[in-house]
Amino acid sequence: MEITILGSGTGTPSLKRGACGLLIKIENENLLFDTGPGIVGKLLKIGITYHDLDCIFYTHFHTDHTLDLATFLFAAKYALSLRTRRLTVIGPEGLERFYAGLLNLYGDVIRPEAYEVILREIGEQELKRHAYKIRTMRMQHAPESLGYRVESNAKVVVYSGDTDVCENIVKLGQNADILILDCSFPDEMKVKGHLVPQEAAKIARACHCKKLVLSHLYPVCRQEAIARQAKKAFKGEVLVAYDLMTLAV
Ligand SMILES: [Zn+2]
Ligand SMILES: [Zn+2]
Repeated sequence: MEITILGSGTGTPSLKRGACGLLIKIENENLLFDTGPGIVGKLLKIGITYHDLDCIFYTHFHTDHTLDLATFLFAAKYALSLRTRRLTVIGPEGLERFYAGLLNLYGDVIRPEAYEVILREIGEQELKRHAYKIRTMRMQHAPESLGYRVESNAKVVVYSGDTDVCENIVKLGQNADILILDCSFPDEMKVKGHLVPQEAAKIARACHCKKLVLSHLYPVCRQEAIARQAKKAFKGEVLVAYDLMTLAV
């Protein structure tokens, strides 16, 4: 699997970090997790256009994780480069309502005509494809929030999306090769619904993961301080995400 953190930031505008998006490439499939504002354009930096996406997954419907779905749908109708491939969109309960709301808001300028969009609302479950397996569990953030565990060729990548401390992230992240966690604020600024480095590190330790990647960083987060705080509680590899960071497993 090839992983690119497209946006390591949040909904708070930052010149350093863009809003959320994560691309996982498995064999020839491009799986995009969350589409925060700016993600569709950011994909171009790694050579991926709106034609190349196979599936979009959502963790929850906050704007910093979803706004660019409208950008995608609008771009895909560009007459000189019309998307014609089917797109699958998977997300928690509320996905159909969210999608219908977008179409209602923007109308024909985003409504797919030359291609099909398959929507699939999921809860806690397992999805099997030929090259990979995905398992989801409820996270502690928005009522609909899901975290994703992606397994392919005996390798495991786990993405929490936004979450606070919960048992499910420890279950979902067991023995992950790469555990990508919310790390919104430094230890001294804990906010409900999100993790701070020490909490993320304790989760990583309980998961026995190999590599902890801290993402969803608000502008107040300073790279060295975040890494230092996390390393106190987790002895494995700790990486503080940045935009376009790539990882392979
Ligand atoms: Zn968020
Ligand atoms: Zn959120």
